Amino acid sequence: MENLHNSGARLQELDARHHLHPFTDSPALAKRGARVISKADGVYLWDVDGNKFLDGMAGLWCVNVGYGRKEILDAVASQMQQLPYYNTFFQTTHPPVVELSAKIAELAPEGLNRVFFCSSGSEANDTVLRMVRHYWASVGKPDKHIVISRENAYHGSTMAGASLGGMKPMHKQGGLPIDGIEHIMQPHWFLHSDSLSEAEVGSMAAQALEDKILEVGADNVAAFIGEPVQGAGGVIVPPSNYWPLIQEICNKHNVLLVADEVICGFGRTGNWFGSNTFDINPDLIAIAKGLSSGYLPIGGVVVSDKVAEGLDAGGEFNHGYTYSGHPACAAAALANIEIMQKEKIVETVAATTAPYLQKKLGEFASHPNVGQVRGVGMLGALQLVPAKGQQKFEKSDVTGTRCREHCLNNGLVMRAVDDAMILSPPLVISETQIDELCEKALKSIEQTFAST
Ligand SMILES: *Cc1c(COP(=O)(O)O)cnc(C)c1O
Repeated sequence: MENLHNSGARLQELDARHHLHPFTDSPALAKRGARVISKADGVYLWDVDGNKFLDGMAGLWCVNVGYGRKEILDAVASQMQQLPYYNTFFQTTHPPVVELSAKIAELAPEGLNRVFFCSSGSEANDTVLRMVRHYWASVGKPDKHIVISRENAYHGSTMAGASLGGMKPMHKQGGLPIDGIEHIMQPHWFLHSDSLSEAEVGSMAAQALEDKILEVGADNVAAFIGEPVQGAGGVIVPPSNYWPLIQEICNKHNVLLVADEVICGFGRTGNWFGSNTFDINPDLIAIAKGLSSGYLPIGGVVVSDKVAEGLDAGGEFNHGYTYSGHPACAAAALANIEIMQKEKIVETVAATTAPYLQKKLGEFASHPNVGQVRGVGMLGALQLVPAKGQQKFEKSDVTGTRCREHCLNNGLVMRAVDDAMILSPPLVISETQIDELCEKALKSIEQTFAST
């Protein structure tokens, strides 16, 4: 640890002086020095001092095809030479954005065939908010403007993204949420598992949507938005009755269903989209992260034919970004998807590596300090507890943070969300590497509780 923080000293000092980090307490970081990551290959990262880490988070849930993919670098370099930039406003288009739109339409859930591009998941959800309101206005129902979301949801960090999200610490800063957004309970069984069954929590959380729709009036509700599996909130896999009930309620009250697929999209749950895994029929999906495996920033909103036709009826949609469909980013996304198809990555995840990861994570359930194991596909969470049957630590957050530090010392990147340890490794992780990941995770958990 000492070593790690003492070298790369010049970079750390400049970083502390000039770089404001996202979601970071700057003085605290300045005191210890940022970890300088300088190289990556496959599922591994190296810091500037040569320490090696298995990346159990795929960067930030995004590097699905792993690091160092020459096919993507070559595609981007060649696109940069050909046409580094042009816009898609003013009745123009360019080859990579056309090819990418068609490719996404081919892969997306049934009936979603048109894509609006942006540069991130946050911008995708900003677009969602404006788009669903504009859709209802275009089909003669301008009162339908409220979007219902969930507590502890994550939909990004812009004004609309953070407002749609249900993260209390984010709402506390900057006067959020903005008007016209309502939050209902999340389908998080662990929080109620002392008194309710999983199915009871599923139906209670779905009923909360119907109750909210009736409270504010269906004629005022534009959409419901949810991540198929909540990621940043703690890898919360909903009870199996949840999404079918949500779907039914949205259909019944004429409310658009938006799946935020920013994490779940592009193979993370063992299908191309979380909507496939959970049998959701969304009207819109937000995508980013795995779309380009993080090699370049790109996101989008894919819309159903019904929504596209409604928008068509509304004339010009006064919305767009300079970098909507950026050619180099579109080329990166195309090359990324080509790798996924050529190497049958989604198929391999579904048939082999995800079941293996879930089986290995399942073995943690018997550990005295693991209160719940959650997961689907290449997502996992180990909920740390003081002891079996005791769900909460006296102080939340401390244990998870300590466990994360042990993980890093043991050469594993695993994130802590309160006291849940979170995993979202690159989709190309092998069974041997999953063994390595689980060994390191177990050792770190043991060390965490040995030192209390
Ligand atoms: C990361 C994330 C976002 C925001 O994406 P950015 O690219 O960071 O703006 C939105 N929704 C979900 C579900 C995410 O995980």
